[in-house]
Amino acid sequence: MDARLLAYADRTAPRYTSYPTAPHFSSAVNGEVYAAWLGALDPAARLSLYLHIPFCREICRYCGCHTFATRKDEPIADYADALEAEIARVAGATPARRIASIAWGGGTPNILAPALFEHIVRVLHDRFDLTTVSEHAIEIDPRLLTPAHAAAFAHAGVTRASLGVQDFNAHVQDAIGRVQPAAQVSDAIAMLRGAGIGAINVDLMYGLPLQSVADARRSAVLAAEMGPERLAVFGYAHAPWFKSRQRLIEEELLPDTATRFAQAEAIQETLMALGYHAIGFDHYARPDDPLARAARAGALTRSFQGYSLDDGDALIGIGASAISTLPQGYAQNAAEPGAWARALERGGFATARGVALSDEDRVRRALINRLLCDFAVDLAPFGGLGAFPAACAALAPLIQDGLVSIVGERLSIPPEARPFARLVAEAFDAYRAVHGAQGAARHSRAV
Ligand code: SF4
Repeated sequence: MDARLLAYADRTAPRYTSYPTAPHFSSAVNGEVYAAWLGALDPAARLSLYLHIPFCREICRYCGCHTFATRKDEPIADYADALEAEIARVAGATPARRIASIAWGGGTPNILAPALFEHIVRVLHDRFDLTTVSEHAIEIDPRLLTPAHAAAFAHAGVTRASLGVQDFNAHVQDAIGRVQPAAQVSDAIAMLRGAGIGAINVDLMYGLPLQSVADARRSAVLAAEMGPERLAVFGYAHAPWFKSRQRLIEEELLPDTATRFAQAEAIQETLMALGYHAIGFDHYARPDDPLARAARAGALTRSFQGYSLDDGDALIGIGASAISTLPQGYAQNAAEPGAWARALERGGFATARGVALSDEDRVRRALINRLLCDFAVDLAPFGGLGAFPAACAALAPLIQDGLVSIVGERLSIPPEARPFARLVAEAFDAYRAVHGAQGAARHSRAV
């Protein structure tokens, strides 16, 4: 790869699943503010629901999620009770009832027993109108999936399942503390498809300990042979000072920057040769998948789960650490399940922090969104490049090194520089000066 581009691969940048990004949330947004925002929603608003299940049976060494290990079922049952309380509280605070989409993430949502999962969906049915749901998605740990789960998910209306895989090679699975043979993954996919869940996503990773370029390519081939509609491919972000569980990964076993880049390229070449289209900087989809069609139509957007089609008027996050996106701004629940549940027991919301959006935030968010979804943006509707003097200065070296070009008011990122799109987007981030030292800890590497 071009040495000029490679020099940028170690730089960190936010993933811009929100703008402003989470490090800029503050306690100024509390439960009262969140309740007022919910109350101001239009009764006809279409809501997207995100339910966070922050438990796993054991913790993978590479994990960067808000999740806790439990071998017992009691904490999960207690958590489900608190989820039910939060669903009721949201329904009591907003006049909006129509649900456009539901997504379960974690942690491991399929740590919920099938009957408990169906119970929570019934609670949603009791409080909201689910007849308008167009997508109901769930993240799955293939190691815990049972036929009873698959049947319960299908019965509850789940349409899409995302399976965490990361890498299929035994030595890499040993090094990351997540052993799941390929047969276990293909059995899980067969179980889900057999139950009638027709849309399957697979998550892969590169940059893992002991992972070679050939390992990454082999994982991509095996994953594609299982026929998922979509794949997401993420670079492992090693930040043991931020996630202490990552201290179990020996730093000397991690691939260097050039190898990480070669792994990302090998996965991309493999998936594209096998018929997948590249979507944004980290997703792949079959050409007839709705995500691929949206990308061609310039209708992609970004949400907390990355690239999405989400066209809801507000995203309501339910569960510990979940983030809501309302027209007025972002609100995040307390991250620790005990603190979150106690706040709900006290009769209020568990909002710990957030940010109210200014008009300037909305403009910059829309611009960054288009840039990361389309790799090009016409700056004229945003006031022209002249409206962003600090961005002009930040873009100058990136233009010189071929990461981006500007012709008139049109800014575009050439195909070879697309892995670095977040660095270009960061030039338009008014808060970037305060990312500073925090940035290295909180944000992931460009590649
Ligand atoms: S199963 Fe997923 S959420 Fe749980 S520890 Fe492993 S990577 Fe993290």
